[in-house]
Amino acid sequence: MKRIIVGNWKMNMDLKQTATLITRLRTQITNPTAKVVVCPSFVSLVQASEIISSQKALLELGAQNINDNDEGAFTGEVSGPMLKGLVGYVIVGHSERRIVFMESNELIARKVAACIRNKLTPILCVGENTNERQEGLAKRTVLDQLEQNLSEIIPSEASKLIIAYEPVWAIGTGVNAEPYDVEEMALAIYHYLVNKYGTETADKIPLLYGGSTNGDNAASYLAINKIGGLLVGGASLNYKVFSSICQL
Ligand code: PEP
Repeated sequence: MKRIIVGNWKMNMDLKQTATLITRLRTQITNPTAKVVVCPSFVSLVQASEIISSQKALLELGAQNINDNDEGAFTGEVSGPMLKGLVGYVIVGHSERRIVFMESNELIARKVAACIRNKLTPILCVGENTNERQEGLAKRTVLDQLEQNLSEIIPSEASKLIIAYEPVWAIGTGVNAEPYDVEEMALAIYHYLVNKYGTETADKIPLLYGGSTNGDNAASYLAINKIGGLLVGGASLNYKVFSSICQL
């Protein structure tokens, strides 16, 4: 399976900066070893899509959020049908949405279902916080998130998922998870998926790692058993660093 590197731009980059960053990535990423997905803000997606097509950039697009409904009176929200055809991927369950926007596991499950219904690939983020890790509850937390967040999809849809393990304490903090801890969690997630969907399906679900990855540590995470790519936050805004990660 080809590696997947996803750049989560979060609430950064206006239209002009988006155009500059996509153009720079286009010139740097000429020989990616991975499928490369960038996730700008909603307002930049149309422009980013046009630049990617006109410059034939080796990039795909993702959104950072989705509403669980397909249409209706949901002021300020963006739905699956609006994203369909514009992006191929949607980040769902990111810890910033779980914590800052208080998204529940039930809502995240409905967002995963909205992605599948609209033929968008959900990049489902799961991860424990500092207390949960310190109390030895990391695995239980992550597997519980998966159980709840995948409750609305049927087994035949599972191969359309991407799962990103992102320990909350490593996101945007510069604190690096130890590769052996990441491997332990990756194996726990894989075995959970095997039990739930069978080996053939589990083998089709890419498992990404995210949390303060950068040009110096990306290779060590990519070398981990069962890790098939990275979800990169801060470092995805630096075109030289992000490009180098995509060509490792
Ligand atoms: C993220 O936002 O998903 C993330 C992993 O951020 P960072 O790489 O900055 O820790």
